[in-house]
Amino acid sequence: MAYDTDNIFARILRGEIPCHRVYEDADTLAFLDIMPKADGHTLVIPKAAATDLYGAPPEALAATIRTTQRIAAAVRKAFDAPGIMIAQLNGAAAGQSVFHMHFHVIPRYAGEDFRMHVGPKADNTVLAAHAARIRAALE
Ligand code: AMP
Repeated sequence: MAYDTDNIFARILRGEIPCHRVYEDADTLAFLDIMPKADGHTLVIPKAAATDLYGAPPEALAATIRTTQRIAAAVRKAFDAPGIMIAQLNGAAAGQSVFHMHFHVIPRYAGEDFRMHVGPKADNTVLAAHAARIRAALE
């Protein structure tokens, strides 16, 4: 599938749409999922245009998984999460709904199911507080 330059994450990268940013470097951006499957659910994306895993330039992929590792540790600390799930969906049949490659970082707790994928939008004030907690855990 060709890369759509108007997908929502491309627009976030261009600053056209706000996000609850937790981390940014030259090659990657991490921000909260606005329809979190669990509190602290964070997305990590490459700045390079890539629809999915297959089309991602290897350098962008390497940078994204490095950032994902850092974010996973910070989310684990910030939310005292005994488990962290990393998910990366390719194609609508797999549940991909935004066609700019991304990794999901999702806290998991024993015996607790996570919320629906692309479920209800979380409150902005709550998301802002959660983003601040993760940023503090990165320091
Ligand atoms: P996927 O279904 O794997 O493509 O994941 C896309 C994710 O992006 C979903 O979990 C959505 O909740 C999330 N999402 C959609 N729009 C936004 C947005 N504007 N800001 C942050 N997350 C979003």
